[in-house]
Amino acid sequence: MSTAPARLIPSDLGPVPTLDPLATGGIGGQPRGLTTLFLTEMWERFSFYGMRALLVLFMTLGIAEGGLGFTDKRAAAIYGTYTMSGYLLSILGGYIADNFIGARRAVLWGGSIIALGHFSMALHSQSTFFAGLALVALGTGLLKPNISTMVGGLYSATDARRDAGFSIFYMGINIGAVAASIICGFLAQHAAFRGFLGSLGLDPHQSWHWAFGAAGVGMTLGLITYVRRRATLSHVGHPPAAHQPRPWGILALVALGSLALVGVMIAADYYRAIVYGLFVLQIALILFFAFRPTLESRRIAAILVLFVAAQVFWSIFEQAGSSMTLFADRLTNNRILGWEFPSTFWQSVNSAWVILLAPCFAWLWIKLGSRQPSSPAKFALGLLFVALSFVWMVPAARLTVEGRVSPLWLLGLYFLQTAGEMLISPVGLSTMTKLAPARLTGLVMGIWFMAAALGNKLAGVLAGDFKSDSAAELVTFFWHQAIGVGLCTLALFALVPWVKRLMGGVR
Ligand code: GLN
Repeated sequence: MSTAPARLIPSDLGPVPTLDPLATGGIGGQPRGLTTLFLTEMWERFSFYGMRALLVLFMTLGIAEGGLGFTDKRAAAIYGTYTMSGYLLSILGGYIADNFIGARRAVLWGGSIIALGHFSMALHSQSTFFAGLALVALGTGLLKPNISTMVGGLYSATDARRDAGFSIFYMGINIGAVAASIICGFLAQHAAFRGFLGSLGLDPHQSWHWAFGAAGVGMTLGLITYVRRRATLSHVGHPPAAHQPRPWGILALVALGSLALVGVMIAADYYRAIVYGLFVLQIALILFFAFRPTLESRRIAAILVLFVAAQVFWSIFEQAGSSMTLFADRLTNNRILGWEFPSTFWQSVNSAWVILLAPCFAWLWIKLGSRQPSSPAKFALGLLFVALSFVWMVPAARLTVEGRVSPLWLLGLYFLQTAGEMLISPVGLSTMTKLAPARLTGLVMGIWFMAAALGNKLAGVLAGDFKSDSAAELVTFFWHQAIGVGLCTLALFALVPWVKRLMGGVR
């Protein structure tokens, strides 16, 4: 976290024009660099969610209609592995930035690899499809943790604007996500665009590849913005000093370890045992670090407590794409004011809530200033909201005996979950940048995203218990998970004072 005045260092992005990077000319009185990172991440997430929204549909579509003709099972397995891999590779990406190339260059390279991946998927063949997925996962691992680290680098340790800044950054993520599902969905599936392709003498069945290409164009626009506005970031994300050793051996170990973890996570059959084993391991690690003498170790213990809480949060939240999509599709009356909408519409509701709620939270954090709750307290509140979201669904589950339920139930569920998300996800990003030892910021951010990888996987396991044909079992489904998360919430509230002490002055 540099608070040093602007240093004009020539870098791989070319000579840096003069501009005061610490000026408050950015969105909402924030540093200008925040606007750059906001726009870059908005386009990166546009490409990420645009492609992700089409992935399963494209894989399962028949070959004659322009798809890959995979079975549902194979498509779901590939989807799960892919979405988890980007987050898991964040550890590798963070390590590379910390020890070799710095966050600035990691974002540039990561974004370029992501764009190449999407363009590879614009071609119609299985090999370019899989090469594209691998490139996007790899590029995401390089870009995602390091762009978040750079946001943190814009603020000094005491700057009260930090959490507000992350809330704004998070809004960029979700503007990208909402726009992507509309634009890429239109290009891939809408008859109007197919007709247009036909009128140009092109194959309308190739519309999917045009949509993947659009994701690549989005990432390219992000890269152009990033390079053009590089002067606003001249003081953050530099590589370690030239005289520092480059740990190639450890890099190889981190790379192999990440691949091994991807392998273990794919082994869904014994995943429950692995998850419980990992929880025990994490608790042991927390105790190990908490009782060591250095502040740095105690802060790592605090990071691990938040890491466990984040996993619990994502394990409920990330059921949006599985059990909650089934609830939307089979049990909800998808109609508002007489207008019937497709169940896929629900995929963008969370992002829309973020766009509405992020400014409220940014305002709240600025208004409260130093009186705002500590980050572990915000995490506990976030868990409470996500627990309440499943309590809220209990009456809805009961009502399903009478047929499809009102869309207000899911709207409320996503409202509560998004409020929880705003207390956990941007706050987590911000806190990681505050707690991480300076030389390890990228790695710590990578570990943060690993909580998302594990949580996603656990969400898949929990969603396996979803029953749409029995209201009583559905009630149990929601109750059990609400009680589980409720207990974690109580435990975290009880631990807040201890975690605050471990954090040693960081809020
Ligand atoms: N939706 C957010 C994003 O895409 C959070 C992802 C996560 O950390 N699980 O960045």
